[in-house]
Amino acid sequence: MSFDIEKIRSDFPALQQKMRGGHELVYFDNAATSQKPKSVIEAECDFYSHDNANIHRSAHELSARSTSMYEAARDAVLKFFKAGPDYCAVFTRGATEALNLTAQSWGRKNICSGDEILLTQMEHHANIVPWQIIAIERGAKINVAKIGPDGSLDMDDFKSKLSGKTKIVSVAHASNVLGTVNDIAEIGRLAHEAGALFCVDAAQSAPHMIDGISSSQPDFLAVSAHKCYGPTGIGALLAKKEILDSMPPYQCGGDMIESVSWNGTTFRQSPERFEAGTPNIAGAIGFHAAIKYVNSLDKAALHEHESRLLERLTSRLSQISGLKIFGTAKDKISTVSFACEGIHPNDISTLLDAQGIAIRTGHHCAEPLMDTLGVKSTCRASLAFYNTTEEVDYFADTLEREIALLS
Ligand code: PLP
Repeated sequence: MSFDIEKIRSDFPALQQKMRGGHELVYFDNAATSQKPKSVIEAECDFYSHDNANIHRSAHELSARSTSMYEAARDAVLKFFKAGPDYCAVFTRGATEALNLTAQSWGRKNICSGDEILLTQMEHHANIVPWQIIAIERGAKINVAKIGPDGSLDMDDFKSKLSGKTKIVSVAHASNVLGTVNDIAEIGRLAHEAGALFCVDAAQSAPHMIDGISSSQPDFLAVSAHKCYGPTGIGALLAKKEILDSMPPYQCGGDMIESVSWNGTTFRQSPERFEAGTPNIAGAIGFHAAIKYVNSLDKAALHEHESRLLERLTSRLSQISGLKIFGTAKDKISTVSFACEGIHPNDISTLLDAQGIAIRTGHHCAEPLMDTLGVKSTCRASLAFYNTTEEVDYFADTLEREIALLS
């Protein structure tokens, strides 16, 4: 297999457009959501054109077709994350819903007064707030492991906060701000050794196909399809089936019950127990198409390409005077957050937008991390495998020129 960047780019219709002022689009906001290949767009369109019916309900041919496509998508998700036979995939709206499901269902049942939940300073709000709500409700305590000056997790601090009281450790595999990739194999090993469950927020690592998820043996793993070249509104919670089957329902309605009477209700096992109502069938099929697409790429070449882009971007930004990069850990995804002395991040983003460059600014749904970094917001350029060295250079040249004009 080879890595033909021009061919890859031609698979993504949104990358082919010109922006205001006739500028080519330079899409560096992939950590927010990625662009979609034609095969994903067509998979959803084909489903609605030929196979649309509700799943698990009717005995007609269309329903049989849509059910088997939906279940094939579930199998593909499990396989993509190299999950063993003891795992089950619950379709959710995304990583946020997967983490809320874990906290609201497993957490409410298992976390008691005096228990502890261990998070890190680099978590996204989706991996903070659901735990805060449960901690308040159950009288538990949240501990937060610190990061070091380079944005990597301080493992000594992490170990010092892990104890027999820790019920669950929930950690981002990769930070959406710093780009840091955490050693989840080691974190998972330590969590399990302490008797805690281990939850991985893979929202940012999955699009970069970072290995090590299966070896960390997570009890829960949250992912969003839309960051992995799939559709919005679909994601998954992968979890050990034995644990899922011991958890109470999170939402209730059609397709998740065994029987209902005025005397009470019994529930199906997982995954159906956690998929109340008509799910996002077309989304699951689009997610499957995205998995097929990335599986068709040469992963080693893709990693090499992304590493080269990250190296180039870091080196170019490091040469711009007054610019500070947040997060310089050894192991990073191709996401770089930065700030420029005396210039508001929103001004930078607006000026870049006028040149066709899309980046993100703000607190990136990580306000506690912003506090740790001592800033209110940053600029963030987040790259995907379809980005190019030429785009990195155009971005760096434009940024340098705009900063010089503003200073
Ligand atoms: N976790 C991390 C690290 C993220 O970056 C995000 C989104 O940016 C999420 C969770 C939530 O993902 P979603 O909004 O797709 O549910």
